[in-house]
Order: sequence, then structure tokens, then C-alpha cells
Amino acid sequence: MASERAGVIPKPDLTELEGRTYSCIEGCALCCLCQPELLPNEERVFNGDPDLRRGVVSAHISPDVRGAALRLKGSHGACHFLTERRCSIYDRRPHFCRTFPLNVFVGWRIQLNANLSCRGLDLPGVDLSSLGIELLSEYGNRRLSRELSSAAKVFAQFENNANDASVSQSTASVRGAVSILGDELTDDIGLSRLMTYAEYGNTAQDSPPADLVRAVREAEPEADIHQRALIDGVELFDLADLSHLPVYVAPDLSWKLFRLKGGSIIGWELEDSGETREFCKIDPTSVDLLPLTTRGRRALQRYIDIVNARDCFLGHAAYLCDLEGYEFNFGQVYIGAIANSAIDLWWRASLMAQLAGADSLGRDEIREGVIFFDMDMLDLPTIGAFI
Ligand code: SF4
Ligand code: SF4
Repeated sequence: MASERAGVIPKPDLTELEGRTYSCIEGCALCCLCQPELLPNEERVFNGDPDLRRGVVSAHISPDVRGAALRLKGSHGACHFLTERRCSIYDRRPHFCRTFPLNVFVGWRIQLNANLSCRGLDLPGVDLSSLGIELLSEYGNRRLSRELSSAAKVFAQFENNANDASVSQSTASVRGAVSILGDELTDDIGLSRLMTYAEYGNTAQDSPPADLVRAVREAEPEADIHQRALIDGVELFDLADLSHLPVYVAPDLSWKLFRLKGGSIIGWELEDSGETREFCKIDPTSVDLLPLTTRGRRALQRYIDIVNARDCFLGHAAYLCDLEGYEFNFGQVYIGAIANSAIDLWWRASLMAQLAGADSLGRDEIREGVIFFDMDMLDLPTIGAFI
């Protein structure tokens, strides 16, 4: 990870957006469930208008977000300003709402990601690269420079710490290794080898990708990936606060929540008002990783490739490395985190496919899994920041 000099704005990385378009689907409003935060100037405008002021709260549901935000109906429903799945203040909606389905991540450079939970992605319409450039221009160079300068310091500190602990590994090396390990990342035995490597592998500082790949392929497949998928998959639904549960926007545009309660996974349909209606109750042990068809495996690999290229994910692995006290080589932490994500997505897609009556995962089933899962991925704790 090369640090950039403060004040110089490197060319933003728009690779994930290239060749992609989007059109907002009327009646979807998934992004109106993600509580929009207000920029300081927007807070002044909203608080200065009696109608807008009613929709403002002083604290966001996430303790990590500071400043004012828009009110959610029933504390975990849709935005106060959503009426019959339409924005009632469309021309005055905050910057946060206008950025969807894009995310701007600032690490050692600026990178734009697409939010793959948006069903409107890849429909003919707005060119995402052009939208990204337009969005970046709204931030202004001064703000971007300030954000970059502060994120670069965090990344530089991480690099120093990793070097001091002799666990450093270059971005090119970890990403290169993952791009070679596509078959292992979509196979239960391969994933088991990856998990053994992540936990017990022995990697020298600054190894080339081939060394990491060899170490993975030589690792014993010890972990039961099906068991692990179940434990980790269910854990993501084990949250007391409904506003923090992942939301799935189904093909019929209903919003669905899943929560672990009394040992069962309870599926709820979420109403605009925040009210919920139970529609299914599942024994978690009945959900297993479904077999991948050839097209399903390719779709899963494509998703892993996207994640592998995201700087926010690299920042997430750096966050984990720091959390674990630099005990493990960064290559092990990164590859372990990627393997975990592949397992979680596979399980999530299996859950949705089982509910839909499918017994294998093709391209469409993986796509549904990605729609349900990607929002969580973009929310992972990371060093660097989305702005
Ligand atoms: S998630 Fe995408 S399709 Fe749905 S409302 Fe938001 S931008 Fe539109
Ligand atoms: S302000 Fe409008 S676009 Fe933004 S979250 Fe609320 S209803 Fe949705």
C-alpha cells in the first residue's frame, strides 16, 4: 500500500464501475432504509425549514456515525420522507441519498465501489463511471485532499506496525494470491484448506503470491466448512436491534429481514412504517451449503474478484490484523477474511435458494445472495473511510 503525499489527489480508481449502468427501480426504495446522515450544510438547511426539521434526528442509529441524520419511521423502518415508496423531498434529498448506488472509499487513494445490493444495477440507464466522476466533483478538492491525508496516515501507521511485527505483505501479493485461488474459494475442501492456512500457515514477510498459494494448497483441510458456514451465517442474524439486521429486497420488491430468535431463523416482511409480519420460521440446521452449478461457481468467483479489488476490503483485513495484535502475517489475515466472505455469501445464497425451493446454486441464485449480502460487506469495519 503506497502512501500518497498529503495535498496531492491521485487519480481515483473507478475500475469497479467501468462498463456498468444503473436505473433506479420505482417502488424499490431499499436505500431509503439506510439512514441518511446529513452534511453540516444540509443540517442547517433541514433545521431551518419547519417541514424538513420534523424528519431530522440528532443521532444516527450507528454509533460510528457522528452528526444529524434523517429520522426512521418506527426507529427501524424507512426514512421519514418516504411516502408509498417514493421520496417526498426528491429535489432536496441529502447528498447521501444522491450517491446511491455508489460508495466512495478513501484509503491511500480514492476508490469508488458499486453497491451490488441495488437491483437497478446493470439495467440500461445512467453510466456509473460518469456518475462517479460527477459525484466526486461535488466533494471539492479541499475535502478530498483532507480525507486522503488523514486516511493515508492511518494506512502508513498500519504498514509500519506490520513491518515492525514482520507480518507485512504487499497489496499485489495478497490480491495476486486470491486471484489464483478461485477454485479453492468456491469449493468446500478448498475453503477448508484456506481456513487452515489462515490459522496455522507460516508465511515469511513480503512473500510473492506463488508462495502464499503453495502454502494454501499444502494446508490440510481440517475445518468442516458446512458447520462453519452455519455458525457464521446464523450469527449475522443474531442481533437484538432490528435496525442493524441485513435487509433483502426480494424480486417482488418486498423488504425481508431475518433474525435468530429462540434457536430459529424468523423471516419477517418489513413495512415502510417499521412494522413487521412473520412469513417463515426456519430451523437453521436445515440450511446447508447447496451445490454450485458451473455458472453458479463462476458467479461466485466473479463476486470474489470484485471484493478482492476493493480497497475497503483490504482496509478491513488491515483492521483485523491490527485487532489481532499483528500476531498473523497479513497474507493469512487477508486470505482468511476473503474465505470467510465466500463462505458467508455461499450460505446466504443457499438460504435464499432453499426458501425459493431450489436445490442448487446457479448464476441467478448467487445473484440473489449478492443482493442480500453486499450491503453487509460494504459495512465491514475498515481502516480508511467511506465518505
Ligand atoms: S437500491 Fe437501487 S433500485 Fe433500489 S431504490 Fe436504491 S437506487 Fe433505486
Ligand atoms: S430523503 Fe428521500 S431518497 Fe433519501 S432516504 Fe429519505 S425518502 Fe429516501
